[in-house]
Amino acid sequence: CGIVGYTGLGLLEGGADGTPAATRHPLEVALEGLRRLEYRGYDSAGVALAGPGQGHIAFAKKSGKLSNLVGELEEHPLPEATAAIGHTRWATHGGPTDLNAHPHLADDDKLAVIHNGIIENFAQLKAELLDAGVTFRSETDTEVAAQLLAQEYAKTKNLTEAMAATARRLHGTFTLLAVHADDPLTVVGARHDSPLVVGIGEGENFLGSDVAAFIAFTKEALELGQDQIVTITPTAVSVTDFLGRPADAKRFTVDWDAAA
Ligand code: GLU
Repeated sequence: CGIVGYTGLGLLEGGADGTPAATRHPLEVALEGLRRLEYRGYDSAGVALAGPGQGHIAFAKKSGKLSNLVGELEEHPLPEATAAIGHTRWATHGGPTDLNAHPHLADDDKLAVIHNGIIENFAQLKAELLDAGVTFRSETDTEVAAQLLAQEYAKTKNLTEAMAATARRLHGTFTLLAVHADDPLTVVGARHDSPLVVGIGEGENFLGSDVAAFIAFTKEALELGQDQIVTITPTAVSVTDFLGRPADAKRFTVDWDAAA
């Protein structure tokens, strides 16, 4: 239902240069984004974090209000990170339980995926993955995308290409975001019949299902077109189509009054 993504250099630089990014904790950015998307309604919430040298994704997810997730994070704090993705879920496939909440992990917990929308061919893809020996931990359509992405990633070790290959196989509606522990400064997204917007910062970049997700941090934005893949690092944003060809997205400045 609500999606936010963030990557920033600030914590790597230790904050010494006084740039605004230096004060930002990716987890806090993700939680703030989710708070601003709460108006859309949801039944569960979760976050996934990637940080240098950690070897796997740190995550937390809880059914119910965002405050449940925040309580869980206070009880079991996650390590500091450079990239974060956050999700509020409106369940369509699988009940609103902790296990069905996003993120969904794959690749031995090195990869995490969040998703808005519905993957219509999930049953067929799931059967194929089960045949290949994949085990599932949830009842969601989303986990199929996560496992498929892991399989594609294993082929090339390139998350952007893997996301494009995955998107080509999915039918339905989706905004997908993924982080991988191998590359803790990168967040990759894909969209088909579901919105995804990039927030452009300095030494940091944002993704959101709408601008409310990052309006507290930047008003400079890129609206992705239909069937596009986006890759953000703290210093770069690149956009392709599902075949990996460079693509254009529309730059705009968010009208604060309209978005507040
Ligand atoms: N279909 C997915 C699920 O049920 C995503 C729902 C959403 O858009 O929040 O988990």
